[in-house]
Amino acid sequence: MNANSVKPNYTTNNQNYVEHPVRLLKFILRKLKVKDLFKKCVRDPRTRVDHYKLDSLLMFDLCSFLFRSPSKNKFHLNLKRPSASKSVAKFTEMESNRSPCPRSIDDIFLELNADDFSNILPEIFRKLCRQKIFQLHPELVPNREFTIAIDAQATHTYHEKSQHPCQLCPYCLKRTRGDKIWYIHYDLVASFVAPNGLQIPLLFYRIRARPEWGQLGNNKWKQECERTAFPILLRKLRHHFPRLNICVLLDALYATNSVFSLLKELKMGYSIVRKVKMIKTVGEDCEGLKSLTPPLQINKENKRFNVQQTIYFFNDVAYRQHKLSIIQLNEHAEKKPSKRFAKIFVKDTHWEWIVSQTLDKGNVPAISTQSRLRWNEEDLFNSLQCRGFAIRHDFSRAPTSQLIWSYLALIAYAISSILIHSSLGKLILSKGYTICFLMEQMLNDLIYLPDVFVCGELIQLRFGKDPPT
Ligand SMILES: [Zn+2]
Repeated sequence: MNANSVKPNYTTNNQNYVEHPVRLLKFILRKLKVKDLFKKCVRDPRTRVDHYKLDSLLMFDLCSFLFRSPSKNKFHLNLKRPSASKSVAKFTEMESNRSPCPRSIDDIFLELNADDFSNILPEIFRKLCRQKIFQLHPELVPNREFTIAIDAQATHTYHEKSQHPCQLCPYCLKRTRGDKIWYIHYDLVASFVAPNGLQIPLLFYRIRARPEWGQLGNNKWKQECERTAFPILLRKLRHHFPRLNICVLLDALYATNSVFSLLKELKMGYSIVRKVKMIKTVGEDCEGLKSLTPPLQINKENKRFNVQQTIYFFNDVAYRQHKLSIIQLNEHAEKKPSKRFAKIFVKDTHWEWIVSQTLDKGNVPAISTQSRLRWNEEDLFNSLQCRGFAIRHDFSRAPTSQLIWSYLALIAYAISSILIHSSLGKLILSKGYTICFLMEQMLNDLIYLPDVFVCGELIQLRFGKDPPT
């Protein structure tokens, strides 16, 4: 037999996936064995299982996020036609040829243990590691470190008259201003971030309420919430990935003595934003050192701008019992003459980070580029709120069920991110679709073309190198 006939022709096969992107989604769900993960991680509380297995129900709900349906009802409305319901049931490999009704899902969610879901995201990430994705794509792990961004966001806001049981909910954090009272859910999320835009949430922690926080001012309150939850999340991260070479990216709130000690104890690298007003002695020392060393000057260009960077860096700056390395980056960007219609002509920006590495002229540019990946975490929160995941929507009034819906949103985000940053995903998006439109269209494909996702052609999961434009 000719060797060429054995080797699959990936270029021709790609066309089948570009034509109907829902095939790529099906391929990724299979590759990551998402349904098996639900089966393995989440215990079914029912004594008698009737129509639907739990993993099927969870796959079905995951789809409502994957296809960016703004609510459960909207998703179910889309499946009113029996052929649509049958097609989605088949896509999620259900035992029945009909999609489940929302009521039965709600009832089961009330009895599930939300903690069971915490292992699924780390398992998805481990699957990518085992499939040697990061060995094949070393550009996803700059400086040979897995970059993990950690930040918090407020997800739900309630008032006394809301139907959410604020008084009984363990996660409702009470806020007061004058006689105004409201409640919020506040979540800390750790996610893997890569230079090409790939982002995989790994851990999610909804902060538990403490009565003593009620009277604190807004900034102080946020600090207390994040600082209490942060050590828990960071220790969990180390527990899940005991040998992973990790660099944690944090905002200025975490530039504290106890955080430096904790990161050292857990053997994690870090890059923490420093603001002028925080740990002042360090800033003063840097000002003194500036006169002794000339800065590093770098000229480069990106798509729209010519960029001039001036970088000062300092090692062994003493702060309590720690020796810190500091990067100060000033960037002057001018639009290229060819970009006549750009709205912004000149941009001057200043960044400052406290980092774990010993700095030299060779490694500073790469470390500052890596530190800037922290902004991806803000982008995650934006997507979760505004780009079809509707994380702020009240999927369930019961606190535990609602937590499970948030987990499902994050799992869907991870899968979407893998899809859109894969080489094939990028090829599909290069046709000019927005991500939301692409994912919504997949559901339309399923509704109007049953069995469209069945595609036996072989492909490889590969990632594009360029950052998304
Ligand atoms: Zn609550």
